[in-house]
Amino acid sequence: MTGRARTAIVTGAARGLGRAIALELSGRGERLALFDLDLEGLAETEWLIRESGGEAARFQVDVSDESSVGAGVEEAAERLGPPLILVNNAGVLRDDLLFKMPVEGWDTIMDVHLRGAFLMSREAQRFMVDHRWGRIVNISSTSALGNAGQANYSAAKAGIQGFTKTLALELGRFGITANAVAPGFIATDMTRSVADRLGIGFDELVEREAAATAVGRVGAPADVANAVAFFASEESGFVSGQVLYVAGGPRG
Ligand code: NAP
Repeated sequence: MTGRARTAIVTGAARGLGRAIALELSGRGERLALFDLDLEGLAETEWLIRESGGEAARFQVDVSDESSVGAGVEEAAERLGPPLILVNNAGVLRDDLLFKMPVEGWDTIMDVHLRGAFLMSREAQRFMVDHRWGRIVNISSTSALGNAGQANYSAAKAGIQGFTKTLALELGRFGITANAVAPGFIATDMTRSVADRLGIGFDELVEREAAATAVGRVGAPADVANAVAFFASEESGFVSGQVLYVAGGPRG
C-alpha cells in the first residue's frame, strides 16, 4: 500500500495487461482512471475494480489523438484528482515481413505506441511536476530486441525504451521516475491474434513459447502487473530509467 490513494491512469485498460495492471494498482490502494477506445471492455474493468472495493472511472480516449488525450487527462484529473501515476500500456499489432509491410501498418504502430506514450506523458507530467511526485511506467516488449515479422513493433518498443530513459533524465529532479516493463509472451487477446496470423491454434503456440522459456511457461497478465506495481510504488523512488524484462528468462 502507498498509504494514500493517488490517481493512476492506465491506457489500454479494457482488457489484457491493462486490465490486470489496473486491478493490481487498485488492490494497492490507488484510484484508477481507465483509458481505452473500447467502452464496453472498460465498463467491465471498472465493475471488477468496484466489486473488489476500489475506485475507478472510465474514459474513452484514443492515445494517438492529441485532443482526445488532452480532454481525457483533464477530465480524469477533474473527476478523480491529479494523475500522479501513468501506465502507457495501450497497444496494437500490425505484423508483416518487411518486404510486404504497408506504410499504414508502420504508421499505426508508431502512432499508438510511440506517439501515444509521448502525448499521454506530456499531458500527465504537468500534474506530477506540480506535486513534485510522479511515476511513469511504459510497456515495452522483448520484441525491442528484434523479432521477425515485427519491424514496426520492435522499432516502436525499442523507441519506448529510449523515450523512458530520457523522461527519467528530464523529470527526475521533480520527484518523477520513468521506467519500462518489457514483457515476453503473455497470454492475452494480442497473442491470440498472433496464433491466428500464424494459422495455428493458441494452445499450440503457448506450448511452443513455454518450451522456449527458461521457467517453462508463458506469462500471465498478473506477472506484468506485479512488475508495473513495483515501479509505481512509493518505495521505488530511487529506481529510474530502467527496463525490466518480465519474460521468464534473461531476454534483456
Ligand atoms: P490487448 O489485449 O490487445 O489490449 C490492448 C488494449 O489497448 C485494447 O483494449 C485496445 O483497444 C487498446 N488500444 C489500442 N489502441 C488504442 C488507442 N489508440 N487508444 C487507446 N487504447 C487503445 O493487448 P495486451 O496483450 O494486453 O498488450 C498490452 C501492452 O503490452 C501493449 O502495449 C503490448 O504491445 C504490450 N505487450 C504485450 C505482450 C503480450 O505477450 N501480450 C508482450 C509484450 C508487450 P481496442 O480493442 O479498441 O483496440
